Amino acid sequence: MVQLNENYQKLPGSYLFAEIDRRVTAYRREHPDRELIRLGIGDVTRPLAPAVVSAMEQAAAEMGREETFRGYPPYRGYDFLLEAIAQHDYAARGVRLSPEEIFVSDGAKSDCGSIGDIFGPDNRVAVCDPVYPVYVDTNAMAGRAGEYDPGTERWSRLIYMPCTKENGFLPQLPRERADLIYLCFPNNPTGAAASREQLKPWVDYANANGSVILYDAAYEAFITEADVPHTIYEIEGARECAIEFRSFSKTAGFTGTRCAYTVIPKELVRGGVSLNEMWYRRQSTKFNGVSYVVQRGAAAVYTDEGRRQVRETINFYQNNARVILDGLARAGLEVSGGVNSPYIWAATPAGMGSWDFFDLLLTKANVVTTPGAGFGPSGEGYIRVTSFGGADATRQAVERIADLLKHGA
Ligand code: PLP
Repeated sequence: MVQLNENYQKLPGSYLFAEIDRRVTAYRREHPDRELIRLGIGDVTRPLAPAVVSAMEQAAAEMGREETFRGYPPYRGYDFLLEAIAQHDYAARGVRLSPEEIFVSDGAKSDCGSIGDIFGPDNRVAVCDPVYPVYVDTNAMAGRAGEYDPGTERWSRLIYMPCTKENGFLPQLPRERADLIYLCFPNNPTGAAASREQLKPWVDYANANGSVILYDAAYEAFITEADVPHTIYEIEGARECAIEFRSFSKTAGFTGTRCAYTVIPKELVRGGVSLNEMWYRRQSTKFNGVSYVVQRGAAAVYTDEGRRQVRETINFYQNNARVILDGLARAGLEVSGGVNSPYIWAATPAGMGSWDFFDLLLTKANVVTTPGAGFGPSGEGYIRVTSFGGADATRQAVERIADLLKHGA
């Protein structure tokens, strides 16, 4: 009989958002008349920028004409997009990248998940706690996480770096040797962001130990503070030790359109082997590129018009973030994040568990949030609120939560 990947059997319960969905669906079935406001899952709600739509329309028309039809795209992505990325996301910030160091893909989730293909099974993996669950689950699927202990909610071979109120929600360098280190700034779920000074020790650690940093910058567009780097390559030495993941999902509303990219500098070499070449080998074997139409849409994000339109949308979400931060703080909750991030991390009222507070907000305020405990044990006692909703809905949700807390949670 066929042998299955036993690691899948070790994965605990349902994926966080599936569990939220289950609870929300059950509540809606019982109360179909209640109007829910969803500030839970990190999906965007604003439409694509007009410049993106018109670039995609034009590209679709090109695909329908014999003279301009295109077949399989290049594995790394079209030059027009690679060059726009290198120019606007990096050169403009003083970081030199060549187009061969960039790999366009259909999402940062797939790239964060698939990058493990080029690393061996015995690497020790360090993750933040709380964490974007994809890093943990994909390592568990690959057998790098060891055994899951439902009591502690931890995997035996993972190195957890707690991000708590005490350390400002920023991880500390692990005491044990970590070979692969996942860092995500601005962070999902806490909304914390690391400054250049705070990132430098990680780069030094990785270079001193031959480790690799997997740096997820999916929320880079939300950075407002000057000392927070937009790319890890702003840190000296990062070209020798870091892979960076970026996405058009939250930057330009591409969650349903799908486009992202991964950067692997040529200097990133371990055991004499270029990780850039390994990833090219992996991508050209398992991935057949992102459609021409979508890449044209992504390139339009970098035009003058596109940049202005995309900035307006980000400003819109940033206004929501301020409404949530201020409103929940006024309502007496301890809040952080939301300044360089679309996510607000709010402590639950004294002694209440994450899922209990989630249920309370769902059933009494009809607001859907995300329980912090779903992101790892150190997320217990918190909920994550997103600024990706509509402006009115966000204001209303904050009012409902404030009302509920005022009249006794
Ligand atoms: N990385 C982080 C930290 C995320 O929060 C998300 C989506 O929520 C992603 C990656 C996924 O991005 P994409 O839509 O490009 O797959």
